[in-house]
Amino acid sequence: MSVPSTDAVVIGAGFSGMYMLHRLRGLGLTTRLYERGDGVGGTWYWNRYPGARCDVESVEYCYSFSEELQQAWDWTERYPSQPEILRYAEHVADRFDLRRDMRFRTRVTRAAYDEATARWQVETDRGDRVSARFLITAVGCLSDARIPAFPGAASFRGESHHTGRWPHEEVDFAGRRVAVIGTGSSGIQIIPVIAERAAEVTVFQRTPNYTIPAWNRPMRPEYARWVKDNHAEMRRSMRGSPFGIAATFNPGSALEASEQERLDELEKRWAHGGPGFLGAFADTAVDPRANELVAEFVRGKIRQIVDDPRVAELLSPRDHPIGTKRPCFDTDYYATFNRPNVRLVDVRTAPIEEITATGIRTAAASYEVDTIVYATGYDAMTGPLLAIDITGTGGVPLRAKWAAGPRTYLGLMTAGFPNLFTITGPGSPSVLSNMFVSIEQHVEWIAGCLEHLARTGATVIEADPDAEDAWMRHVGEVAAQTLFPRADSWYLGANVPGKPRVFMPYAGGVGTYRATCDEIVAKGYEGFVLSP
Ligand code: NAP
Repeated sequence: MSVPSTDAVVIGAGFSGMYMLHRLRGLGLTTRLYERGDGVGGTWYWNRYPGARCDVESVEYCYSFSEELQQAWDWTERYPSQPEILRYAEHVADRFDLRRDMRFRTRVTRAAYDEATARWQVETDRGDRVSARFLITAVGCLSDARIPAFPGAASFRGESHHTGRWPHEEVDFAGRRVAVIGTGSSGIQIIPVIAERAAEVTVFQRTPNYTIPAWNRPMRPEYARWVKDNHAEMRRSMRGSPFGIAATFNPGSALEASEQERLDELEKRWAHGGPGFLGAFADTAVDPRANELVAEFVRGKIRQIVDDPRVAELLSPRDHPIGTKRPCFDTDYYATFNRPNVRLVDVRTAPIEEITATGIRTAAASYEVDTIVYATGYDAMTGPLLAIDITGTGGVPLRAKWAAGPRTYLGLMTAGFPNLFTITGPGSPSVLSNMFVSIEQHVEWIAGCLEHLARTGATVIEADPDAEDAWMRHVGEVAAQTLFPRADSWYLGANVPGKPRVFMPYAGGVGTYRATCDEIVAKGYEGFVLSP
């Protein structure tokens, strides 16, 4: 039986897969897109937990490629809620008629490169087999949800959910005793919302996080109008910025500023809220002394907000510099611990030992609960890629090639895997940026590359191993100049037992990275090998 063929297979119908499909169509290429969910939206399809909201401002967290889309869509709040982002994804799918090339509820299980034909042979869990010239992964960086292997978890008789696999039906917390394990971005968003609905909430915290108020509010009509009129300029500056957001990043030094200047700047940014807080002083990212001044400012805020000094201290991060774990932005997080129905349990000193039929037992005590919320994070960046059995030239598995950590050239390709592109792959700014900016840059770079191949008569492109080695060295060197390696973060794979400890994203900034990618193209795809 002959296997159907297509020009490209795209994996994932999140914002990267949707835009990639649109651009491939523009190039006249046939595409089949596989998505394991039942609809578009990627991370926003799965993360339906109460309080789920993006912490990049809505007017910045959206596509810029279509003027019509930009003018047609109106955001209702400063930060978009999960339901609104999902509506936006669905609107985009309809507007560009994307669904006709998508296969939902279908997981790609295997992809093997066949050197003889220079094609990818792709298989799914529903028995599809398809042959494609190009394989493009749009699997997201935080899509492989992870629940730690707590003994006894299966015996729990109540309801339990991971934030990243939240049910489509509403979860009823009324009158329930709820445990939340994890205090990263997801935990910090869900805890205040559950606290308002549940009888009691017990938060199991291993590492306290720094969180900055988001100060969400309804969209101001005059700002929305201004953005529609000026978005081209705004987007241009976001693309050239370090993190792909519009907030201003002060080049000044926290150490050189006087105490009053420093406090004024931090108060101003705290009052404004959101990711711009970390842009107060450039040396926060690289100098431990500067970082400590900003970290202590946040601890001071925690002491002001939280009534019980013991709880305030437990909520105060002291084991990692601010900004070295993904920063969190919240609505009423610290104040939630003043509620009589909320308690904080330190599982750093007394770890969780077991989940029982009726609750959670730590090394110090047992807690009876009706519902467990796992806000325990993801096997980030490499997890979703390595979940697929991908083999390249000579049958080498990607899992073997990346056994000691991911290796890529620009985060876009990996040597030995011709015509495989990884949108926002490890080695690119990805998770250290506004994902929309990074997604659009990668999709457009890949589309430009495929156009170049067609124009020059080349059919195969592959990363050169030496260029890849040099890029990986550069990624490591840039990370080593920052304070990032000082935290046990998912950026380093530290949250997954046994995962190689490698700083995965590129910390050089999206503006610098984009210039590098463009320069490589201008030099005739330097570091790539193109063949007919
Ligand atoms: P996360 O940041 O990895 O947090 C996981 C939490 O679970 C941490 O507090 C971790 O503690 C805890 N944990 C893990 N294993 C544990 C164990 N065995 N015992 C006790 N605690 C344990 O995951 P996340 O909160 O889902 O966020 C992941 C990323 O998704 C974010 O960093 C962000 O990039 C993205 N996100 C964004 C938004 C947004 O835009 N607003 C919202 C949600 C998520 P340790 O710190 O000690 O490991």
